[in-house]
Amino acid sequence: MTRLTLIVPCYNEEAALPVFCERVDAVVSALPGVEAEFLFVDDGSTDATLPFLRALAERDRRVRYLSFSRNFGKEAAMYAGLQAATGDLVAILDADLQDPPELLEEMLPLIRSGQYDCVAVRRVTRKGEPAIRSLFARAFYRLINKVSRTQIVDGARDYRLMTRQMVDSILQLTEVNRFSKGIFSWVGYRTHWLEVENAQRAAGQTKWSFFKLCLYAMDGIIAFSTAPLAIASVLGLAFCVIAFIAIIFVIVRQLIWGGSAFGWPSMVCILLFVTGIQLFCIGILGQYLSKTYLEVKRRPIYILRESGGGEGHAPQD
Ligand code: UDP
Ligand code: MG
Repeated sequence: MTRLTLIVPCYNEEAALPVFCERVDAVVSALPGVEAEFLFVDDGSTDATLPFLRALAERDRRVRYLSFSRNFGKEAAMYAGLQAATGDLVAILDADLQDPPELLEEMLPLIRSGQYDCVAVRRVTRKGEPAIRSLFARAFYRLINKVSRTQIVDGARDYRLMTRQMVDSILQLTEVNRFSKGIFSWVGYRTHWLEVENAQRAAGQTKWSFFKLCLYAMDGIIAFSTAPLAIASVLGLAFCVIAFIAIIFVIVRQLIWGGSAFGWPSMVCILLFVTGIQLFCIGILGQYLSKTYLEVKRRPIYILRESGGGEGHAPQD
């Protein structure tokens, strides 16, 4: 028997959870030689997600749940899940059925063959997504792979099945600013990619606004690359060289023709441009400093308010 833990981060998923449970149960019950554990992480939901999970855990002994004191984000939910998981194999999947549970049937033999430590899913289409979002997403992946030595796969979902060994490695990375797409890749191991079409949400709303995604992208770049800092240095150097050439030019012009104190408007433009660049570079520095600040505070990644279910749990009836 292989013990398999399914981690499901849930944030206001009352609409999707009933459908999800039905479908995932059908798939998991049919997996050969598997003893399943369902680990739901309620990420501070404000709807009926938590009562639903409580009731579910009472009915089904395979179900455990963790509930946060507030919304800490999906990254924190996944971390908590990985910490609490007891399985020899661990899978992470979304509650909205955008990660088809049927794929587990394909993933399991691949891991069991011993050829891979991780089977992950990447979507090859972005059908059903706003065009502007796809455009920015593509640009982001091109950029981050240029500036970071950690390979970040375009369209990679967080949906994956991993061995216990890989999970333990991930748990060694205790940083507060978690960017899982990078962390999964950073720990290494042999990963097999399954390619799927984009699936629509089963129910409910996405929790990611365009603005939130942009911030997430910026966090990812800062967490896995120091290239922006180098860019700031290069820009500074380039402007010094330009300034030096301009000074020589002005001196020579003064010596030959005299009266070189003209062109104040252009001077103002240059001044504004250069101060702009300076502020931009200080901004980059600030981004890294702020992340460092948050890391050194060593605050917990999440705070648990309630947990339940599992073997030690006595059903009420
Ligand atoms: N999620 C979470 N905390 C959050 C936001 C999302 O645990 O702050 C969960 C959510 O319940 C879902 C998964 O993360 O199971 C993916 O979220 P969503 O479907 O909104 O993102 P998308 O699929 O649109 O990228
Ligand atoms: Mg989704």
